Amino acid sequence: MIRIISDYSMKKLIAFNWKMYPKKAADIEGLLLAFDDANIDTDRYEIAIAPPAVYLPMIADIFYEVKADISLAMQNCAWQSEGALTGEISAEMGKNVGADYAIIGHSERRMYFGETDEMIGKKVSAAIKAGLVAILCVGEPLSVRKKGKAAVKQYIRKQIEEAMKGLSASKAFSSKRIIIAYEPVWAIGTGNAATPEDAIEVIAFIRSILNTSYSIPTARILYGGSVNAKNVPLFVKHDGIDGALIGGASIDKKELKSILKTLHS
Ligand code: PEP
Repeated sequence: MIRIISDYSMKKLIAFNWKMYPKKAADIEGLLLAFDDANIDTDRYEIAIAPPAVYLPMIADIFYEVKADISLAMQNCAWQSEGALTGEISAEMGKNVGADYAIIGHSERRMYFGETDEMIGKKVSAAIKAGLVAILCVGEPLSVRKKGKAAVKQYIRKQIEEAMKGLSASKAFSSKRIIIAYEPVWAIGTGNAATPEDAIEVIAFIRSILNTSYSIPTARILYGGSVNAKNVPLFVKHDGIDGALIGGASIDKKELKSILKTLHS
C-alpha cells in the first residue's frame, strides 16, 4: 500500500470528501483523471481524497501503481479497533488499506447518524491511536449563527473540548495527529459559503483554543462549506487558513478539474 504522508507537514491540505459517491467503481477513474495533468504545486499543497471506504483499497492500489502524490482519508471510523459493531469500520482497518487520515464528526454524521460529541471524542482517540491523522469537523448550525459571534464561539469551543477529552495534549501535539476543519453546518452543501473574513475569524479562535488549552500552536485548521472552483483561492491562499475540506464540488469532474487548476505550480 502507498504511504505518502509519514510526517506532519505545514503544507496546506486540500481534502476532497466524496461523501457517498460515486455509485459505481467504474466512475472513479474519471474523477482521478482530473488529477493527472493538474500540475499541482506540491511544495505548497498536499492533496487527500476521502472516498467511500469500500473504494479505499482500489484507489490505494491505483495510487501505488502510478506513484501518485495523493493521500487517502476515511470519512469516519469506529471507536474500537475491532469488535461486534456491525457495519462499522475501524481506523486500523482503514490504515491497513492505505488511509492516512480520518474525517471525524462530519456534520452529516452528527445529523443523520446521531453521532454525539462523546462518540466523536472516542473516534478521534481511536484514529490517532491507529496512526491516522484525525480531521475533526466542527461548526455551528444556523440557529446558533443567528445568535451572534459569541454564541458561535461558545458552541465550537464545546465541540472541541468534548472531542479532545480522551486525548492528552502531548499525544496530539507530539504525534501532530490532529487537524480541525471548521465547517459551519449552514454552509455545507448549500452553495452558501462563509465569507473568508468570517472563516478566518473563527479559525483564529480555534487556533487560540488549541494553543492555550492544549499547547498545540501549529495544528492545521481548514475551512469547509460550499468551496468551489471560484471561491477556493479566497480560502486556501489566505495565510490564516491552512487548507480546505471540499465536498460536493469534488465529485463533479469539471469542477474538480477547475479547483485543481487553481493549485497549479
Ligand atoms: C463536506 O462534505 O465536508 C463539505 C464541506 O461539503 P460541501 O463542499 O459540499 O459543502
